[in-house]
Amino acid sequence: MIVILSKGISAHDKEMIRAFLRERGFSLREQTLGDDEIIGAAGKAAGTAASDVQELTLLPGVERVAATSKPFELASRETRSGDSIVTVGGEGSLPFVKIGGSRISIIAGPCAVESREQIRETAERVRESGAVILRGGAFKPRTSPYAFQGLGMKGLEYMKAAGEELNMPIVTEVVSPEWADHMKDLTDMFQIGARNMQNFELLKKVGALGKPVLLKRGPSATIEEWLLSAEYLLASGTRDVVLCERGIRTFETYTRNTLDISAIPVIKRLSHLPVIVDPSHAVGIRGMVSSAGLAAIAAGADGLTVEVHPRPDSALSDGPQSLYPSQFERLMRDIEALAPVVGKELLRTPRTHQAGPASSTARGTLPLSNRIAFSGESGAYAEQALMRAFGEDAPRLACPSFSGLFDAVLDGSAGFGVVPVENSLAGSIHENYDLFLRYPDIAMVGELKLRIVHCLIAHPSATLDTIKVVRSHSQGFAQCKDFLDKYPWRLESCYNTAAAVASLLKEREADRPAIAAIAAEAAALACGLTVIKEGIETNPLNYTRFVIIARKNNGDIAPAPPSMGSGKPNKASLVFSVPDKPGSLVTCLSIMSSREINMIKLESRPIQGQPWRYLFYVDVGLPNAESEFDAVLEELKTKTEDFHFLGAYRGAR
Ligand code: PEP
Ligand code: MN
Repeated sequence: MIVILSKGISAHDKEMIRAFLRERGFSLREQTLGDDEIIGAAGKAAGTAASDVQELTLLPGVERVAATSKPFELASRETRSGDSIVTVGGEGSLPFVKIGGSRISIIAGPCAVESREQIRETAERVRESGAVILRGGAFKPRTSPYAFQGLGMKGLEYMKAAGEELNMPIVTEVVSPEWADHMKDLTDMFQIGARNMQNFELLKKVGALGKPVLLKRGPSATIEEWLLSAEYLLASGTRDVVLCERGIRTFETYTRNTLDISAIPVIKRLSHLPVIVDPSHAVGIRGMVSSAGLAAIAAGADGLTVEVHPRPDSALSDGPQSLYPSQFERLMRDIEALAPVVGKELLRTPRTHQAGPASSTARGTLPLSNRIAFSGESGAYAEQALMRAFGEDAPRLACPSFSGLFDAVLDGSAGFGVVPVENSLAGSIHENYDLFLRYPDIAMVGELKLRIVHCLIAHPSATLDTIKVVRSHSQGFAQCKDFLDKYPWRLESCYNTAAAVASLLKEREADRPAIAAIAAEAAALACGLTVIKEGIETNPLNYTRFVIIARKNNGDIAPAPPSMGSGKPNKASLVFSVPDKPGSLVTCLSIMSSREINMIKLESRPIQGQPWRYLFYVDVGLPNAESEFDAVLEELKTKTEDFHFLGAYRGAR
């Protein structure tokens, strides 16, 4: 039986609960399960009487009592209704990678680490395709004592170095309790191999280290035995266990093992723990690995662990089942297409400035440029915003896309960037909000609002009667809807208003009277074109809100640009999702209102790949006391699912 304690329970109430249980002959075990503090009560010979449970439920400080009908308690869904989400990594500069919930997380790498170069090369290839955790065996449990046994600690060091360089947490197998202590500072997640699933001393040792554990199912283990092994890990102290189905032994010999697909829905019903699948060891034949992996995702697996080798034919172990990087790339694309069908999203590695091949050329460590990035071409509204924030002479970098702009700030080729996020007539620019989620190392550090006056621009030979086609950004069309509705013009969307104007210069002489663009007067000046009509926006109170972005410095928010003044931040932006249950959004909002935090904006936005699930975008006014807001953030993190702090800055009036 498990007693889940109320948050903030007093020491006195806790002692009363302990005394109650001891008096009735239970032996007690206190620990955390997910975010909950619990007391596990076991060992009463006559079992748990219903009256005990009822009385316990009434004691102050008891949130809930879970008396499970299963031999595994901590792993049982009866003790925890929601799905457990396991977090791997997060130490140093490594990203946090989550497994479970609404995401599909893919682990990939070679069967064994063979050399520094081999693991580095494989890591780079699998990361490019979207793997978020790097796998590789340093200690290999081999059926034959004469087969390659792994490089041991050296191999682990090589793998750690590759993981750090490529920004991927690593998972590796631990084969004996003696090695666990040596390995714990180098690995981000321990793997318990199939052959060791019931090595209880190993489970106790590894569980007590508190790191996340990937627990493979033994080739002949029942699901209940497997969950009891997970119970060993949870009871020993770790709260992060991921189960891994890797094929079981049956009479069939065409495949290495038989992938027990039905284990996935069974586990989902029995346990709150995430479950992933290892299609490589399950089928053992390269050509069948991808279909087995896709089947696992379709059946509800929270991810896969896949063996990939740059040259499988010369692999020192499990070459025949290792995918070529190109096959892995194809599998990842198929998973991405399948994910929405099962209501999930493929987790992608966050773009951070240590990440990717760029870091091998040390671009990530170059001093920041003094240039300011904006998207579009000369004359773009963003360039006007840039000049407003940084001065007319500020050195600038024109980027062809918003993601290119984020990349420039991330790799240091620009010190700051200017990004439009919202227009007073047409609403939020969602593409850019989404980029903040993909680039967690980028923060909002400033804000400004720019009045937008749209002009119809064309060659001097054009008039309102000769125009047939108008080009602009979709926002330009939306903001000039009333004007455009009066004419039968065809609208052609461009990535940027200034680019729409620049495109007119490429038109042949004969076509020039028929083509126009909607943009700022500055864009017409930059291209030597004519303003046919000025102020065509539907409502003259047309403002676009731009944010200034900068790269975080070792996780800390970068300073605001000096040109924006040195006042204390008075505004902040957050994005979060909430659990799918009544009142969960209200709970978050009341955390803010109870501390007098003024919510300036609240917008919901569909989560890609998860129909009818939403992210909430929130802007708030900051209280004077910093500690107040820190406490609000901490509390919000416990009540939300995904939580992103986009930055604190001085709001523009
Ligand atoms: C492995 O993942 O490297 C491995 C040895 O797998 P299993 O323990 O499932 O055989
Ligand atoms: Mn292997």
